[in-house]
Amino acid sequence: MIIKDKMKLEQKCSPVSVKEGEEIGVRLLHELRQSENGIGLAANQIGINKRVCVINVKEPIVLINPKIVEHSKELFVFPEGCLSFPNDKIKTQRYTSVVIEADNHKDKLSFSAESKDINDAFECVCIQHEIDHLDGITMFDREFRQEPMVRGENAPLKIGRNQRVTLTKGSQTKTLKYKKAEPMLENGWTLTK
Ligand SMILES: [Zn+2]
Repeated sequence: MIIKDKMKLEQKCSPVSVKEGEEIGVRLLHELRQSENGIGLAANQIGINKRVCVINVKEPIVLINPKIVEHSKELFVFPEGCLSFPNDKIKTQRYTSVVIEADNHKDKLSFSAESKDINDAFECVCIQHEIDHLDGITMFDREFRQEPMVRGENAPLKIGRNQRVTLTKGSQTKTLKYKKAEPMLENGWTLTK
């Protein structure tokens, strides 16, 4: 039985011993094989709030207490689904590459979407999706939105790409479309309200 209750999935999972993690891993792979098109599953999706997840894109991989220890700066947009939300398909933003450490793997595991094999991208996205589950994060929290989000001084401020904004830098002031203004924010210009 796969949990479909978003509230339940928003709870963080707790660390587990390798021995217990391996048993959970077997159950997860079994459950994953029963699913239609499933490529990954986290323990809390079957009601076990422990830090174990599995992916099965090119080969089955069990991860016990996994964590992302390195990741690219770059993000990429990818269509994602989730066995807990079978009717939803959304576009998310994920790191282009990640390095994972897990208690049941001696060596670090690297995943990168930068290859010609689309399965590498699936694997790279899937691993990030599953580790998120263990932290109570669902794919909806990673949804890619066309509208850029800019943090104002007090509250988050949402600005459209074509909306005109005013920027200042020292005594200079400019008013222009947000899409043109965005790169300038990295060069010392600030948005005024
Ligand atoms: Zn999922």
